[in-house]
Amino acid sequence: MLINTVKAGRVSHAQLFLGQEGTHAFGLAVAYAQYIACKNRTETDACGKCPSCLKFNHLAHPDLHFFFPHLASDKNSSADFIRVFQKLANDTHCLFSEKQLVEALQLGNKEAIINMQDAELFLSKLSLKPYESDYKFVIMYLPEKMNNPTSNKILKTLEEPDGKTLIILVSENYDNILPTILSRTQLFKINKLPLAQFAEAISRLKGCSIEIGEDLAVLTDRNLQEAMAADNDMSKETLFEQAKTMMQSAYKLSHWRPHQLNFQEIADFIKTMANIGRESQKIFFRYVLSVVRKSVFLTFNANQLVHATAKEREWMNNFSPFINERNAFQIEKVINDAIIDISKNAEPNILFTDTILKLGKLIRVGDKR
Ligand SMILES: [Zn+2]
Repeated sequence: MLINTVKAGRVSHAQLFLGQEGTHAFGLAVAYAQYIACKNRTETDACGKCPSCLKFNHLAHPDLHFFFPHLASDKNSSADFIRVFQKLANDTHCLFSEKQLVEALQLGNKEAIINMQDAELFLSKLSLKPYESDYKFVIMYLPEKMNNPTSNKILKTLEEPDGKTLIILVSENYDNILPTILSRTQLFKINKLPLAQFAEAISRLKGCSIEIGEDLAVLTDRNLQEAMAADNDMSKETLFEQAKTMMQSAYKLSHWRPHQLNFQEIADFIKTMANIGRESQKIFFRYVLSVVRKSVFLTFNANQLVHATAKEREWMNNFSPFINERNAFQIEKVINDAIIDISKNAEPNILFTDTILKLGKLIRVGDKR
């Protein structure tokens, strides 16, 4: 669709790209601008080699301007943080989350916004003539982070920019954008990739098998950013072994079976999990959550609702008697809390130790023997 707008000479000057985190909406906005600026474009893509493309490849074209949320202050604008932004975008192939940006900018708990200085800079950039390209390009990441006065300041330019201009607002949250902005931009929705395409893209980009690509599609709910950040050997098979180790450790601890208890094994498990990185840890816990839910179905004999491999099914049949009406909700909560704590940068050794102890207690509560 975007390529066709270029071919037909009908590029709208103000567009709103709307896509959830992990859909690569920002990367698509850059690719679209690169395609328009390319001196030697093909039917399907920019050439990647012309002087314009070489600058776009590093996000350093003089006619390409970025705005994004940053530290809220009267004195600074996006331009003061552009090097950090470019590095993050380059390092991640434009596939980063708001959280990663906040971390890259080292904001901690401080609020990130697009401020009035940005609006002024926005107007001044668009009042200039382009240096090298026919177009001036402005890409704003998360326009929902503008406050009302800032939004109002750019309204007129959104409606009637000078000369050949392409403004792309890349949003993850339609509901938080002012209606006055919405009415002045053309909406372009970016959906999650279908499962097969997602798996193919991930296997190509990460160099993993299609099967692992499919597992990651399911486990991340087709979030490209999370799947790219996950460990390369993260497959359902690995996750299954890890989940089994965690649940068995929790069981043995709670039932105090000293002859079965292997502290070294538990310590090794915690050490391994602490080192796999936050995105992989989240994927792991989401997998555990899916195993717990399936076990609940098995407890209530709803076998037909459970999609699982033979190995998973065999193990869940042994495990499901311990997950029932006495503890299922609390177990879900413990795992969901772990996912939230990972997002808040919890210390992973403490988090995994704590989670295993909590699960152990709950498994004991569910033991009806
Ligand atoms: Zn090119």
